Amino acid sequence: MTSFLNDLKSLKFNYKLGKKTWFGTGGNSTFYIEINSEINLQKLLKLLPLSMPIFVLGAGSNIIVRDGGFDGLTIKLKGNLKKINYDKNKNFLTIGGAVKDSTISKFCEDNSITDFEFLRGIPGTLGGNIMMNAGCYGKAISDNLISCNVICRNGKVNYLKKEEIKFSYRKSSIDSRFIVTSATFKVKNLCKKKILKKIAKISTTRSSTQPINFRTGGSTFKNPPNESAWKLIDKINYRGKRIGDASVSEKHANFLINNNYAKSLDLEMLGEEIKENIKRKYNVNLDWELLRIGKFKKI
Ligand SMILES: Cc1cc2nc3c(=O)[nH]c(=O)nc-3n(C[C@H](O)[C@H](O)[C@H](O)COP(=O)(O)OP(=O)(O)OC[C@H]3O[C@@H](n4cnc5c(N)ncnc54)[C@H](O)[C@@H]3O)c2cc1C
Repeated sequence: MTSFLNDLKSLKFNYKLGKKTWFGTGGNSTFYIEINSEINLQKLLKLLPLSMPIFVLGAGSNIIVRDGGFDGLTIKLKGNLKKINYDKNKNFLTIGGAVKDSTISKFCEDNSITDFEFLRGIPGTLGGNIMMNAGCYGKAISDNLISCNVICRNGKVNYLKKEEIKFSYRKSSIDSRFIVTSATFKVKNLCKKKILKKIAKISTTRSSTQPINFRTGGSTFKNPPNESAWKLIDKINYRGKRIGDASVSEKHANFLINNNYAKSLDLEMLGEEIKENIKRKYNVNLDWELLRIGKFKKI
């Protein structure tokens, strides 16, 4: 196990946080540290003044870091927090907070575990999924959840049963200052052939409908009740619209893209322009699904 001292040695200043997101835009984090175990995370949080803002970076697939950067400490989970443990007798699967979705879905495929096929198309990590209640094609990460282990801002471990958490569309009620270190799921088996068929279907649908080879952050807005955000965006003809080097994807109207040199401000202004137009024309309030952190850059 990596010692706390070794984890402390990973501390960096003025870390290029924006570059680590899927959009690849935005400023730096004042501090950055990599933490390899739950115990080390507890030690770190106990050391930090409660006033120090912290941000946990998963795969950075659902965030825009603003151009002025984040004044605080970014924590990246690694090591032991990337482990998966499968208890075949109880049919329990415990997944570390830093495990990537592609790793989870491959593990499940290899062990003939069903209901996690949908993660093949989501580029996040377990911790981000729980906080966002990630999902697609009728499945969400909270479906088979039993409990989560979280570390509170004061360093204390908290065990949360699913019943204690309110999950809704792309939202969980877990305190945003808590850090998810693992989650346990009740799982069931299915023959590998059927699992592979489901995965193949998801992969084909994804690649034909989403700009997966671009710098994007997935869905920009949540779907309003009984409507699709992309349909509303199409109604105002925003496919291909640009601000600076940011644009609305030609393939999926609810995806924003950094074509190369976009600033976070370009992405955010494009999103706000869409919101404004849709409110004015259709009186619908679009709600950002992308999270935005940090501060605007002074010009
Ligand atoms: C091409 C593409 C397709 C996508 N498709 C989908 C989709 O179909 N369905 C869907 O739901 N989403 C989708 N997304 C969005 C995104 O992948 C999910 O929201 C994912 O769950 C975010 O996980 P992450 O690890 O990248 O989180 P990040 O973007 O790094 O962070 C998101 C939030 O989670 C918090 N967080 C991350 N890890 C932890 C942790 N361990 N403990 C506490 N908080 C944590 C962060 O602090 C932040 O507040 C897509 C994104 C892209 C780029």
